[in-house]
Amino acid sequence: MTLSHALTTAEAAFSESLSRLFELLRIPSISTDPAHNADCDTAADWLVRELNAIGFKAEARPTAGRPMVVAHFTRKSGTAKTTHALFYGHYDVQPVDPLELWHTKPFEPENRNGKLYGRGTSDDKGQLMTFVEAARAWIKATGDLPISATFLIEGEEESGSPSLIPFLKANKKELSCDVAFVCDTNMWDDKTPAITTRLRGLVHEEVEVTGPSIDLHSGLYGGPAINPIKALTKMLAALHDKNGKVQIPGFYDGVAALPKATKKQWASLKFSEKKFLGELGLKQASGEAGFTVLEQIWARPTAEVNGIWGGYTGVGTKTVLPAKAHAKLTFRLVGKQSPQKILKAFQAFAKKHMMKDAKISFSGKGGGAPASEVQEENPFIKKSAAALQAEWGRETVLMGSGGSIPIVRHFKDILDMDSVLVGFALNDDAIHSPNEKYNLTSFQRGIKSWVRIMGALAK
Ligand SMILES: [Zn+2]
Repeated sequence: MTLSHALTTAEAAFSESLSRLFELLRIPSISTDPAHNADCDTAADWLVRELNAIGFKAEARPTAGRPMVVAHFTRKSGTAKTTHALFYGHYDVQPVDPLELWHTKPFEPENRNGKLYGRGTSDDKGQLMTFVEAARAWIKATGDLPISATFLIEGEEESGSPSLIPFLKANKKELSCDVAFVCDTNMWDDKTPAITTRLRGLVHEEVEVTGPSIDLHSGLYGGPAINPIKALTKMLAALHDKNGKVQIPGFYDGVAALPKATKKQWASLKFSEKKFLGELGLKQASGEAGFTVLEQIWARPTAEVNGIWGGYTGVGTKTVLPAKAHAKLTFRLVGKQSPQKILKAFQAFAKKHMMKDAKISFSGKGGGAPASEVQEENPFIKKSAAALQAEWGRETVLMGSGGSIPIVRHFKDILDMDSVLVGFALNDDAIHSPNEKYNLTSFQRGIKSWVRIMGALAK
């Protein structure tokens, strides 16, 4: 009863919701350009005003960079059991150049044929306004929210979030909730909702192989003197076997088999490997044999050589036998693979595969980040997936992402919170590009999806 009231309230306000989104979109809050610092402040102030008007306690809090919008709503009919959820988004946007490729002005948003065009429509103002408008609908319909909510909306996401970690650390107690919703991800397609439950981790390394003490004449020394490029490439070639399996001992420690249900769901997605590879000019997936393309990107680790150099690479020939050779590598990680252990294992592997008289040294900066995975049995995932399915009429896809979203790790490491990644963006939204858009259905049904998710978290 209350859910249906909140849903009809959200629907009745669709056109006002859209005008409010357009107001926010007209503010050119480009965080990467200091000329727009004041615009970022304006966007933060606009959000604070709107959230206070809805009934949140909102503030724009200063940081070393752009302000952080923090807003709280404590459930009025709440008890000790009430779910407290944090919702994360960002009000800053990317620069707009090349301007001449836009069909309309980037900061004069337009609704054309069910698509909302303008900078920030999808990344991330349109997305963040879906949960803001959902909260508004609940409070308007019932005078309360089904949960207690904290909104954290930053203004430096497009500049690498320099203030985020210090801010989370300094406000740990205030921002720690039962769960975080990170709202800048995609749907599977324009009709099928998705929750991203897996993000791969990453660690990098750089190597230098030294052979003779100086560059040599390849005629006078070629043969007996070792060539470090040969030593390096032999080692790199040994990284994978003919089935694409990484040969570093211990590399797959902590990599769990994909749960049967997940494997089945991914197989049912009708993902065209042929089309995906064809668009890249390729015919065959070259990852681990026995895994589909989606499994290779979402659930399997990789060892990649990103760059390799050494010797003479200028115009014409030079008969040199170089003294040094170099390569840069990255490893994408899944499951419980440890970045530090992977680096150590790789270093041991590389040393073992060096030819005699070739010395290898490592200059990677270490660090790296493990993968983020939220177990699919997590109750917040289950409830959110069911709420999304109720809105869209299709089973929610629990998908992976080959890349990483650093905030998910920060929420876990600093605030000890799991993140549920829900968003309504689509692959063709052209985020960061000219003619960025967000589907009107993403916006409207996104609002209703959050109304349902908030309702599903009530206790
Ligand atoms: Zn972005």
